[in-house]
Amino acid sequence: MVEAAPSLRQLPSVDRVLRQPDVATLIEKHGRVETTQAVRETLAALREEMRPGAVVDDTIITSAVLARLDARAKPRLRPLFNLTGTVLHTNLGRAILAEEAVKAATSAMREAVSLEFDLASGRRGERDDHVRALVCELTGAEDATLVNNNAAAVLLALNTFAHGREAIVSRGELIEIGGAFRMPEIMARAGARLCEVGTTNRTHPRDYADAMNPETGLILKVHTSNYRIEGFTAEVGARDLAKLARQHHVPFVNDLGSGTLVDLSRFGLRKEPTVRESVEEGADLVTFSGDKLLGGPQAGFIIGRKDLIAAINRNPMKRALRVDKMRLAACEATLRLYRDPDRLAQRLPTMRFLARSMEDIRQQALRLAPALAEIMGGSAVVEAAPCASQIGSGALPLDTIPSFGLVIRPKGSGQAVEALSAAFRRLPWPVIGRVAEGALVFDLRCLEDESLFQRNLASLRDEIAS
Ligand SMILES: *Cc1c(COP(=O)(O)O)cnc(C)c1O
Repeated sequence: MVEAAPSLRQLPSVDRVLRQPDVATLIEKHGRVETTQAVRETLAALREEMRPGAVVDDTIITSAVLARLDARAKPRLRPLFNLTGTVLHTNLGRAILAEEAVKAATSAMREAVSLEFDLASGRRGERDDHVRALVCELTGAEDATLVNNNAAAVLLALNTFAHGREAIVSRGELIEIGGAFRMPEIMARAGARLCEVGTTNRTHPRDYADAMNPETGLILKVHTSNYRIEGFTAEVGARDLAKLARQHHVPFVNDLGSGTLVDLSRFGLRKEPTVRESVEEGADLVTFSGDKLLGGPQAGFIIGRKDLIAAINRNPMKRALRVDKMRLAACEATLRLYRDPDRLAQRLPTMRFLARSMEDIRQQALRLAPALAEIMGGSAVVEAAPCASQIGSGALPLDTIPSFGLVIRPKGSGQAVEALSAAFRRLPWPVIGRVAEGALVFDLRCLEDESLFQRNLASLRDEIAS
């Protein structure tokens, strides 16, 4: 106590710091409340660190206040370079929106919009009106509604048709998707009793048929998004399930997960069933995500029979899961792009990334490697080398797309590569790659703004030096 007293007196008061001319300009920029808080926190931190008898001069205090304010002013949600090689990376925000969608969302944010207003009649409208016609045109479905995400779409379908009843699903399709989306738990929350049929690797038509009973609310088929069962396997096709469901007068719901509106073989990828094909196979309802292969904002589509969509819209839970005007605007603009499939690979970033030729990516890697090698100096070996991208978010989980990237192999201990990837994460635009076999790999498939990437690298010199 007696010893600490002199050092406390060496620090100026909050008021005195605030009266300094340099700090006054900070108040102008950050506001009085925020600056006062920063001064208070700075003085408290210095008091902790100070040795007894030490003197702290004003410039140290001012620059500490400035650093604190700058750190607090930086957004937490930061734009970054996704060079992981996973095009639809859930942790990095999945699909990047098309410019048309960005414009539409921005306008919906700035202006009043006809969200639930029918301009023709002057009466109340429905928010689904803005996408219904487009979705039906692109998928062949009778009707459509939009909710928060595909998890919500599945939850809502289960709750509407199987609450207090049974939902039949194959044991081979009881998926868990990253985070907490596990089919049995979603069922429980929807109030549906899970009726599992078949085995992990083989489920037959008679398994479903034997399970049908008066308590059955629906039959559900789930796309096994992030895994594949191979070997001695059997599953029942959507057409057969649709027929069985019709015989028993219950809906057949096909959860496609990613769901694609175009045939991916256009882009040299393996074919996944399209949403239109799933509708044609006779599903009463089809659910899929907005921000996976579709390339739009986070959303969940429920499409299919008019009477069933009407029942879903009458479910009070729908209100809690509906989309806002910004996402609705972005969805509409994204769907509109699908009317011109030939230009999709130019306009829709997800498709543009997937369609990018290996040669184009290789040329980019060859351009960037020397600049990066120069910055790394002797601390690492940098080379342009082939690598493999994947779509991500549960589309074609085992397929990779040949790509090209920068491979940075730091000299030194095993921790050197972790330190290096941390340095890249601290850049003004953090660069996220993947670590493989002692090297940091940047897959360049999703790198479009090359000049921003180059400018960003300039800060790397300081990061590596520190
Ligand atoms: C991704 C996925 C979901 C969840 O979709 P979100 O849009 O992430 O909510 C549900 N079912 C399947 C089969 C999926 O692949």
